[in-house]
Amino acid sequence: MIEMQNVYKKYPNGVTAVSGIDVRINQGEFVYVVGPSGAGKSTFIKMMYREEVPTSGTILINGVNIAKLKLKRVPIFRRNLGVVFQDFKLLPMKTVYENVAFALEVIEEHPKYIKKRVMEVLDLVNLKHKARMLPTELSGGEQQRVSIARSIVNSPKVVIADEPTGNLDPDTSWEIMKIFEEINTRGTTIVMATHNREIVNTIRHRVIAIEEGRIVRDEQRGDYGYEA
Ligand code: ADP
Ligand code: ADP
Repeated sequence: MIEMQNVYKKYPNGVTAVSGIDVRINQGEFVYVVGPSGAGKSTFIKMMYREEVPTSGTILINGVNIAKLKLKRVPIFRRNLGVVFQDFKLLPMKTVYENVAFALEVIEEHPKYIKKRVMEVLDLVNLKHKARMLPTELSGGEQQRVSIARSIVNSPKVVIADEPTGNLDPDTSWEIMKIFEEINTRGTTIVMATHNREIVNTIRHRVIAIEEGRIVRDEQRGDYGYEA
């Protein structure tokens, strides 16, 4: 379902961030992406949702080579995956409800369906009671739960998360992981870059380690593998 073949990414400043990656991730997998800062994890992940385009190589998502995707097809492609960021990236002037509803309004879903679906995903992240609030009125953990709700409202097959617990305290991080576990249990593929050794070593999943733009380790039920 996600397949990279000989993927390279060289930024305009001459830095080669990803250097010949071959990988295949199947539907329903949960994959941690680990490695030192500057290793290329974000670049690897950004290419999966077409935030960055590879310099060479093929990236197949459900059989479509997104390295060659026409610009006008990018928004349609993105509808089928969810993205969660370290810094949440919620719309500050919109309520929790509106932040989550936005993706469905853009595709002109029926208003009745939008309401039902938004309340359903807010329920999943335990934030139904805060639907009227603004992001600034919420804790970091609650904001991340809103952003997870937003990422799954379209029922994507894949959710990509770039250090989703990077700004959160340990207790809150575990809560966030419980939600990702639940989403994965329901069949959604999760690809998550993380520096959280505790989590990776406790909730065991496939671990892909990247160093200097290359995959140096790829293990089912792997461990974090770096010193604290
Ligand atoms: P990680 O997520 O593992 O910290 P990144 O993918 O962010 O790694 O970065 C890999 C390398 O690419 C680093 O040397 C970084 O400085 C460089 N890099 C990342 N983004 C850009 C960019 N937009 N322009 C130029 N260089 C970049
Ligand atoms: P209740 O009747 O208990 O308010 P609802 O399911 O109607 O339950 O709504 C729950 C929350 O969702 C409320 O806080 C409401 O403000 C919010 N909400 C519902 N529909 C919308 C909408 N179209 N725009 C913004 N917020 C909405």
